[in-house]
Amino acid sequence: MASMYQPIVMSRLRAGLLVLLAIAVLTMAWWGMIRMPGKSFTGTPPPLSAEELKLREELVADVRKLGGEIGERNVKYYAQLQAAADFVEQSFVAAGYRPRRDGYDVRGKVCENIDVEIPGASPEIVVIGAHYDSVFGSPGANDNGSGVAALLALARRFAGSRNEHTLRFVAFPNEEPTHFQTPLMGSWVYANRCKARGDRIAAMISLETIGYFSNQRGSQVYPLPGLGLIYPRTGNFIAFVGNVPSRALVRQALGIFREHATIPSEGTALPQNVPGVGWSDQWAFWQHGYPGMMITDTAPFRYPHYHAQTDLPDQLEYDGFTRVVAGMEHVVRELANPSGR
Ligand SMILES: [Zn+2]
Repeated sequence: MASMYQPIVMSRLRAGLLVLLAIAVLTMAWWGMIRMPGKSFTGTPPPLSAEELKLREELVADVRKLGGEIGERNVKYYAQLQAAADFVEQSFVAAGYRPRRDGYDVRGKVCENIDVEIPGASPEIVVIGAHYDSVFGSPGANDNGSGVAALLALARRFAGSRNEHTLRFVAFPNEEPTHFQTPLMGSWVYANRCKARGDRIAAMISLETIGYFSNQRGSQVYPLPGLGLIYPRTGNFIAFVGNVPSRALVRQALGIFREHATIPSEGTALPQNVPGVGWSDQWAFWQHGYPGMMITDTAPFRYPHYHAQTDLPDQLEYDGFTRVVAGMEHVVRELANPSGR
């Protein structure tokens, strides 16, 4: 008898174990990477407030400056890269800061990180960053004029503030190829120098291409086929994206955002080798052991003018963009003041 039935029992047992294992893996993946606090905003958003209308004007003006007046800015268009650096520096000065320009050599050209700091009561640092270069062949209004405009708008709103944690606003050069995910990224140099000094970075947020939203169904695509079953197909939301070790930060930031925001939002903490997950400056901080995440409209997975000559200021959707930055002001404030919540 045993010789007749045992193989069947064993194979059923094995199949059962495999199913259990698959369920366990899926549950862990859901628990660790996909589950997020709060509820995404739905319905018709309220009109922009007077403060938000002022913010919108600032964003429009700064995107026009970077993606229109200055245009393509990178090591090939080096004078424009420097003009963008000057613009960032002057904007920080106008907001009441004393910016630092920290240079490094890229094949004979000096490229600079520009940052400002608001010292806090504790040594923990919250870094808000955006890259100010644009890819070869693109004026980079959305990628990443939008991120820099948001960085400057947030810096203006925190000037003179007192916080528990130290706050830094940083603009990086050379995020785009051919420097992308190499030690020549401004953010890599910045994170490396932070690490060497022993800076305690509690959170890094990269503002990466955040100005395009669409209510068209099917306007949102994904780097992996399964993700379209979990996340929306309409590209009207802002995404909070981290790697798995930064999942607590992603959840905390998205939870705060959802308490205040008037625009839909999604969050995910995926392995950093999933296409898109490491495609901005947070990647450089991960390489140095710091938690980091990116805020993005998902760029190539939604924006029709991604990395194109046509990534111009008029292509952005400024109401949605304004709602994102207004929500991020709460995120930055609460991340910098964890016991004030
Ligand atoms: Zn880009």
